[in-house]
Amino acid sequence: MADRDGVIWYDGKLVPWREANTHVLTHSLHYGMGVFEGVRAYKTPDGTAIFRLQAHTDRLFDSAHIMGMKIPFTKDEINEATRAAVRENNLDSAYIRPLAFYGSEGMGIRADNLKVHVVIAAWHWGAYMGEEALETGIKIRTSSFTRHHVNISMTRAKASGHYINSMLALQEAVSAGADEALLLDPEGYVAEGSGENIFIVKDGVIYTPEVTACLNGITRNTVLTLAREQGVEIVEKRITRDEVYIADEAFFTGTAAEVTPIRELDGRQIGAGRRGPVTEKLQKAYFDLVTGQTQAHAEWRTLVK
Ligand code: PMP
Repeated sequence: MADRDGVIWYDGKLVPWREANTHVLTHSLHYGMGVFEGVRAYKTPDGTAIFRLQAHTDRLFDSAHIMGMKIPFTKDEINEATRAAVRENNLDSAYIRPLAFYGSEGMGIRADNLKVHVVIAAWHWGAYMGEEALETGIKIRTSSFTRHHVNISMTRAKASGHYINSMLALQEAVSAGADEALLLDPEGYVAEGSGENIFIVKDGVIYTPEVTACLNGITRNTVLTLAREQGVEIVEKRITRDEVYIADEAFFTGTAAEVTPIRELDGRQIGAGRRGPVTEKLQKAYFDLVTGQTQAHAEWRTLVK
């Protein structure tokens, strides 16, 4: 990742990609206190557009606020910097990674003398689980690792350290031959994937866990909006893993994962074992929206030029 051409926005300046470095005593590297976003830009008929930029910037600032980090830039400056990171790398579609982290001014966990740095990098990144997964669906496994408790980690924050739990779960799932993990909350109810929100469909109704142990996903919100517009009934409630086993359809949502069908959980086929009709319709509506094939929700697409 480090050895490539291009530029990275770093504390207000565009610096050459290979020179966007930080010291080994960077505080966030040691304790995981950093906040970040995953954003995507898509090619649209009007030019390259960042999808739901304001929502991502708002969540970045909310995450920082929760963690007590003060981002030394305004939201408008971060929005402009995000546009610049895509534009100045000449990307027509991109995955964008804003990150705010503590510098190397001190090492104590008191963290009272630290500078907050912000970087925004953008590069081309295709389908997170491969193009095929978007069509055929993925196999997932219930994780032995519990998702965060609301009073241990702050689940509304998209914080770097939270992803230790995600990585443990994903490593375990992959080593067991699955594509992704399903994490349960501390009470045993379905929470989310290692980097995705989960939905199931049963008898034409869409169910998804309430936002407690899971991240308040922006794609989750987009898909709920699309489902409402399609007239599909939505219920946000606690879901058990066996409800997923007997669902007609299941899918993950996320900026990286987009709308990825799930065809199997713990060796049990879900529904027909492939992308179901409700999932397919929502997935198509999602891709039409992000790529500007529809005029709907034009305010969600920010052109980079
Ligand atoms: N849950 C977790 C743990 C995630 O990392 C992500 C990706 N940011 C999501 C859910 C989906 O969130 P979004 O749709 O905002 O990308």
